[in-house]
Amino acid sequence: MSDTAFSSQPLPATLLDTLQQLGYEQMTPIQAQAIPRAIKGEDLIAQAKTGSGKTAAFGIGLLLRLKPAMFRVQALVLCPTRELSTQVATELRRLARFQQNLKIVTLCGGQPIGPQIGSLEHGAHVVVGTPGRIEDHLRKGTLRLDAVKTLVLDEADRMLDMGFIDAIESIVEQIPGQRQTLLFSATYPEQIRELSARFQQDPVEISVESVHSNSQIQQLRYPAENKEKSPLLMKLLGHHRPASCVVFCNTKQQCKDVSEYLTQHGFSAAPLHGDMDQKDRDQALIQFSNGSCATLIATDVAARGLDISDLAAVINYDLPHSAETYVHRIGRTGRAGKEGLALSLYGEREGHKVKAIEDYFKQHLPVGELHQLEQSYAPLTPEMVTLCISGGRKDKMRPGDILGALTGEAGIDGGDVGKINILDRVAFVAIRHKSAKNALGRLINGKIKGRKFKVRPL
Ligand code: AMP
Repeated sequence: MSDTAFSSQPLPATLLDTLQQLGYEQMTPIQAQAIPRAIKGEDLIAQAKTGSGKTAAFGIGLLLRLKPAMFRVQALVLCPTRELSTQVATELRRLARFQQNLKIVTLCGGQPIGPQIGSLEHGAHVVVGTPGRIEDHLRKGTLRLDAVKTLVLDEADRMLDMGFIDAIESIVEQIPGQRQTLLFSATYPEQIRELSARFQQDPVEISVESVHSNSQIQQLRYPAENKEKSPLLMKLLGHHRPASCVVFCNTKQQCKDVSEYLTQHGFSAAPLHGDMDQKDRDQALIQFSNGSCATLIATDVAARGLDISDLAAVINYDLPHSAETYVHRIGRTGRAGKEGLALSLYGEREGHKVKAIEDYFKQHLPVGELHQLEQSYAPLTPEMVTLCISGGRKDKMRPGDILGALTGEAGIDGGDVGKINILDRVAFVAIRHKSAKNALGRLINGKIKGRKFKVRPL
């Protein structure tokens, strides 16, 4: 038995079975360091990013400490975004299968508060959510934290970047001092150390070497002056043909220009930035996540809304102003052991940014060879097409209704139907290219839930 096998840990057999069912056999490096300490109740400060298996690293100890018969909130996980909260809650629920009747609730902003209050009233063991909304619940008295034994600050650096420090402080004030506090962060700026000093007791520091060396992400840089950047970007996309890629720009205008340029040249690309209204941003995110748009051109702020567990590539059209932001950006590729690609374009005057990144990684950032790039290429056609249906949650539309309408009499193969997203008033369904025309025709002429809806391709 290897010492990184989960079975080498003092875990209940039911949990080991669950882990096996999930296909987790060996602990990831962060888990191997964190789990033995977390189950002993120690405070941890761990440098780990999404994709490293960090949720299980803190989740296993947290779940083992819960008393299922006590219907009070016993663990709180604070996350910077709704997307991460959902991801964390999903992973915790998977792990929690070993124990019946554990209730895990997400509390995030941007969603109606009423149903959240309802689920808290029914008694929850674990709350995962964003600081702003959790503070709202505390203020309303709909959430109590006086039975919390485990507090997790996930992606603490991002929470600080997003200005959540006051909210975090007021939340922590309501949690008993007798608790375990686990702090996860991709980077360790001074502020994180201060946060740790205030909220933790003798934390054990954990850092996984591979996070720093990033061996699974191939990083290359390409010197390019401004007007050379767009043609070069096109060449890089044409050569690598990544199925999913985020191109980061430092300004909104740049996002618009680059996205237009790529679209004009036949590439599947959409902008994502703060000047777009919510509807357009949602659409861009949906098309990207369901595989009907291959490339998003985004600012750092707008890309926070992105919940993609693994990108084939990240391209920095501009280098960011700090090495920490660079790490956040490229951390979206090469997750969970897959190979990632991070390409950066930079101008003559951005040499200091390259230096800062090299200092951070303590390694040289190699220059990419232009002559190795394919000279002739065709843009990648995304695998899926999105159809937009004029009915949503408010019309009681559910994914099964859409799937049923497509695969029933309409005869579309279920395997050709991709992700279904239901918003308040509209729904989106991804269909494989070859079936898209057929599906559109069937939906336009047929009915969903016995009703006629307008349907159009996006
Ligand atoms: P996380 O870093 O928590 O977002 O986890 C990244 C992904 O790795 C998730 O999809 C987990 O389900 C998966 N994962 C976590 N731990 C393991 C493990 N020990 N073996 C295999 N997969 C894992």
